[in-house]
Amino acid sequence: MKQQFAVIGLGRFGGSICKTLSDLGHEVLAIDINENKVNQYADIVTQAVQMDSTDEQALRDIGIRNMDHVIVAIGDDIQASILTTLILKDLNVPYITVKAQNDYHERVLAKIGATKIVHPERDMGVRIAHHLLSKNVMDYIELSPDYSLVEIKAGEKMVGKSLLELNIRAKYGCNIMAIKSKDGLNISPKAEDVIQKDDILVVIGANKDISRFEENEGA
Ligand code: ATP
Repeated sequence: MKQQFAVIGLGRFGGSICKTLSDLGHEVLAIDINENKVNQYADIVTQAVQMDSTDEQALRDIGIRNMDHVIVAIGDDIQASILTTLILKDLNVPYITVKAQNDYHERVLAKIGATKIVHPERDMGVRIAHHLLSKNVMDYIELSPDYSLVEIKAGEKMVGKSLLELNIRAKYGCNIMAIKSKDGLNISPKAEDVIQKDDILVVIGANKDISRFEENEGA
């Protein structure tokens, strides 16, 4: 369903969210205090507005309360990020995602009641580090400090075998959620599905189990 989003702060992070949501057909209201940034996004989003998001009346006037989801992507000015989030919360915006600069910022945002707090630079650093450490790991998403979702290249040993034969859950305690192959994406593969050469396995589980699986079965 088409949703209405507002993105406050049009730096690289906020800007790329605006562009992606617009490309996916959603209505996006883009807000920045800097007029140049606003002009840059005027042709990409539904509406681009120059304003200071710490101005409560201005946020009311723009109809921010009608948004399904507001993303606060203000970076360096932590005070502006916190104040904006507080106002959005007071205005009962149903879903507020905020970019945190550091752990203290995150703790304050959590106390105020931000729905979701993201650390794009930190999270991307973790993903890239995992990718650098292993040639088998194509992508990595941390679900909690102990659990992850990882894309792993299937090793030679696995090719031609079914999931039943490989018995991964019993051997390693992790689950294959999907298989990406040249034929497409196989979500929730069945026990009899066979691994092909160059398949990528989407694996979910405890980090220690995934590491063991990757060391023994990866490419
Ligand atoms: P990125 O890494 O995403 O490029 P950043 O973390 O360096 O960004 P900033 O450039 O500090 O973040 O802030 C992002 C945007 O937020 C900037 O374009 C800035 O003009 C805008 N911004 C800062 N304060 C406000 C405010 N009070 N109201 C609206 N926009 C604001």
